[in-house]
Amino acid sequence: MIFRAKHLLGIEPLHPTEITALLDLADSYAEHNRRGVAHRDVLAGLTQINMFFENSTRTQASFELAGKRLGADVMNMGMQASSIKKGETLIDTALTLNAMRPDLLVVRHPHSGAVDLLAQKVNCAVLNAGDGRHEHPTQALLDALTIRRAKGRLHRLSIAICGDIAHSRVARSNIMLLGKMENRIRLIAPPTLMPSGVADFGVEVFENMEEGLKDVDVVMMLRLQKERMDGGFIPSEREYFHRYGLDAAKLAHAKPDAIVMHPGPMNRGVEIDGTIADDINRSVIQEQVEMGVAVRMAAMDLLAQNLRASRSPQEVMV
Ligand code: ASP
Repeated sequence: MIFRAKHLLGIEPLHPTEITALLDLADSYAEHNRRGVAHRDVLAGLTQINMFFENSTRTQASFELAGKRLGADVMNMGMQASSIKKGETLIDTALTLNAMRPDLLVVRHPHSGAVDLLAQKVNCAVLNAGDGRHEHPTQALLDALTIRRAKGRLHRLSIAICGDIAHSRVARSNIMLLGKMENRIRLIAPPTLMPSGVADFGVEVFENMEEGLKDVDVVMMLRLQKERMDGGFIPSEREYFHRYGLDAAKLAHAKPDAIVMHPGPMNRGVEIDGTIADDINRSVIQEQVEMGVAVRMAAMDLLAQNLRASRSPQEVMV
C-alpha cells in the first residue's frame, strides 16, 4: 500500500487506500502507546516545528507528544509573541522558518488556505492542524479511527454530524473522509448554521434533531464556533440547547449502541449535556483524544518516510 502524500493539508486529496493505510498504522501506534512501547528512532534526527497562529490546547499538545514519542526534536513557536505581531507576512515567516531547515512543520491558522500557501514556500513536510473553516485533517482521521475501533468498521454506518456545521473545519474534513469510506452522512443544524451548497455534499439534511438522529450509529456533536460568528446565528444559548443540544431524550432516537463524539473544546449545556459527555457507556470523547496522539504519530511517520525517500529517491511502502 502506497501513501503518496508529501504534505497532509486536507482529507480532500487523499485516496481511501491512503486513509486506510494511515489508520492501520495509527491503530498499531495506539496499541503500542497503551503498552508504553517507545519508538524514539522513527523521527530521530528530524526537527518538528509547531506554529499555532490560533489557540489550541489538545491539538498542539497532541502533536508535541506524538513528535516526542517518535524521537523528533520538537519546537513550539509562540506565534502570538513572534514577528507576526510586528507585521511580518505569513510568507516571510515561512521563509524564515524554512531557513532553519525543519523537516516537519505543523501549522494552525485562522485563514482558510493559509496552510496550503505556506506549504508551497517551504522544503519540508507540512501538516495542517486546522485552517479557518477549511480543513482539520488529523481531527477527521482520529475521529475515523475512534469510530472504526468502536464499531469494528468504517463503512456503511449511519453518522449524524450536528450543530455549527457552517463554521466547522472538523465537519468539512469529516464529511469528506466519511463520504470517501461510503458511510451515510446526516447533517443536523438550524438553517443559519448549515453551509450553503450543502446539496453537493452527498448528505441528508435535517433541521430537527429527533428526526435526524433516528437510528444512527454515531452522533458527532460540534462546538458553537462563537469566534467565527459575526452576527446572531442563534436566538440564545438556552434556546439552542433546547433544540439542538444533545441530551438523553434526543439521544434515545439513535441506535441503542450509538456512540457520542465531540472534537473539543466542549460547551457543556450549550451543544451537549455534561452527563452525556461523561457517560462512559456512550461517550468516546476521551478515546478521541487518545487516538489523536496515535493518528499524529502515524501521519508524521508516513510523511517522514516520504521526505527521506525524496531526499534519496525511491518509493515508500507501508
Ligand atoms: N478543536 C477543533 C478545531 O480546532 C474543534 C473546535 O475548536 O471546535 O477546529
